[in-house]
Amino acid sequence: MLDERWIKSLHVESMRRGDLHAEREPHVLFQASTIGALLDGAFDGDLSFAELAEHGDLGLGTLNRLDGEMIALDGEFLRADVEGRVHPIAAEAKTPFAVVTRFEPTIDARIEGSLGHAELLARLDQLVPAGASSCAVRLDGTFELVRARSVPAQRPPYRPLTEVVAEQNVFELRDVVGTMLGFRFPAYVEGIEVAGYHLHFVSEDRSRGGHVLDSRAAEGLRARLDPSDDLHIELPPAIDLADPDLAAATHEAIVRAEGG
Ligand SMILES: [Zn+2]
Repeated sequence: MLDERWIKSLHVESMRRGDLHAEREPHVLFQASTIGALLDGAFDGDLSFAELAEHGDLGLGTLNRLDGEMIALDGEFLRADVEGRVHPIAAEAKTPFAVVTRFEPTIDARIEGSLGHAELLARLDQLVPAGASSCAVRLDGTFELVRARSVPAQRPPYRPLTEVVAEQNVFELRDVVGTMLGFRFPAYVEGIEVAGYHLHFVSEDRSRGGHVLDSRAAEGLRARLDPSDDLHIELPPAIDLADPDLAAATHEAIVRAEGG
């Protein structure tokens, strides 16, 4: 379902912790570790949320020990626990996987009609300019339904993410006002990132949230998009982009862990 115009170069730059610098440029995506490492059970990262905040104000991910779903919005870092209840994240807490950007949307549109999830994503595809490889997404408004999940904190020795996700807690929010946010990545970064859309949700009152599995938007959603062609990745010491384990992070495993 990837359109040809997505198959363009996403410039991926990896760096080690010592080389980290705060991102001042707009339209740059910053990522801590890789989805492949997370699939492998690397649930403890070395990057604090204070450090992550230097690289962006909008994004998603998780926390060390896979302690729920992370939502970053307007510079606020929030955790949806296994029940989908939302809590602030302490600056010294750390993440094993996160993607953030300094959100500066170049597209601001109103979505007409009440759309199911697949229709909504197809509509977003149409809004993305031709040639943009990746995109940060923010959707504000009323959702008739948000089907979301979160996961319980794990204890070492950690199991692969696909096993943990088998114990995920799925819940439904009805007629909820809030923000759905995240990213769209092209298929060729699978293993580093989740290909396609990866979206998290948080309610306007900051009480409920999680990793989005399905939704139905009410009329008049506001969609803001920030296309990007630059992805900077902070690789933990044990993780390498050329790691065969990353190549083993197959499409199927990612779909099982992150899909609907
Ligand atoms: Zn997620």
